[in-house]
Amino acid sequence: MENKILVARSSMPSMEEYIEEIREIWDSHWLTNMGPKHAKLQQELAAYLGVEQLDMFTNGHMAIELSLQALKLPKGSEVITTPFTFASTTHAIVRNGLTPVFCDINENDFTMDVSKIEALVTDNTSAIMPVHVYGNICNIEEVQRIADKYGLKVIYDAAHTFGETYKGRGIGVYGDVSCFSFHATKVFHSIEGGAVCFHDKDFGKELYRLKNFGIKNEEIVDGVGANAKMNEFCAAMGICNLRHIDEEIRKRKAVAERYYLYLEGIDGIRLNPVQKEVKPNYAYFPVVFDEKVFGTSRNEVYNKLAQHGIGARKYFYPLTNTFECFHGRYDSNVTPVAVHISKRVLTLPLYADLAPEDVDRVCKVILKCKI
Ligand SMILES: *Cc1c(COP(=O)(O)O)cnc(C)c1O
Repeated sequence: MENKILVARSSMPSMEEYIEEIREIWDSHWLTNMGPKHAKLQQELAAYLGVEQLDMFTNGHMAIELSLQALKLPKGSEVITTPFTFASTTHAIVRNGLTPVFCDINENDFTMDVSKIEALVTDNTSAIMPVHVYGNICNIEEVQRIADKYGLKVIYDAAHTFGETYKGRGIGVYGDVSCFSFHATKVFHSIEGGAVCFHDKDFGKELYRLKNFGIKNEEIVDGVGANAKMNEFCAAMGICNLRHIDEEIRKRKAVAERYYLYLEGIDGIRLNPVQKEVKPNYAYFPVVFDEKVFGTSRNEVYNKLAQHGIGARKYFYPLTNTFECFHGRYDSNVTPVAVHISKRVLTLPLYADLAPEDVDRVCKVILKCKI
């Protein structure tokens, strides 16, 4: 039996490097609550991401959820978002007592179709929450133009875009707020973790309070917060991984380029576009199968890969507006392009240490599916 190829595999520093980094924790006994490792990682991240202000969280989801809370959007107001995303984006809106309004995506790069946003704006709209999906950057200028015109907040789910730049600036500087995930499967990780980049200092204070139960000081608790603090061991893992981030992205790029070698120009297969003025991070390798031309459906390719011990992912299928937990609440017919893509897309195995021979194996199985 051939070895299994997973869709993702966490990069790790050497054990020695991590042990060296956590050694001080044994001296200080400071395990969580914004200790020295937290402070160090926060500073280094702000520098790497090219942002002035950043706070860190226990995971990317809490970063998004608490950002929405800290923005103090009117209860029940509408947030224009995309269903072509991970559960977290939509759940964060709903868990804040806000109403997601689903905008369709564009077929080219799978981000929000900005030409369809304005038709969804009502008197009750308070924010736009697009996703830089697969690391593809949204049409930032157009989103901002619409937000300015109608007085809306812009919160980017930037979970897929660690280390990317747009027009030479770190992606975290755009919008009112940008949220990153440092989950183990992401380009950069702290085992679990997340960060929020923002501009407004008062928002930052509110956000900080909310990740620590809403505690203002020893005697005053004036917010209904959560507990979403990043602990020192996670921060230490982040510090180690950040040392190797350029190499991580370089290795991912080599994997992506090998996929392009095999799959570019194949009829019935569409690959992720290269975007202008974007420095990409090669977070994912989505492939869209057109069964009519390719001869084989996405689901059949998925099954064939699985038979060969290769894990691909139907990412993002199902759409969040069709989740069981929202049964009857939303109508996915309003996002036909997202429906179309979610039935045809597969993300292929991609991680820094994926061997060239394994990429070859994945591609050969896919190409054999072509009729
Ligand atoms: C990973 C991810 C999140 C959530 O991040 P966690 O760190 O896993 O909580 C949110 N949105 C998107 C698009 C993601 O891929």
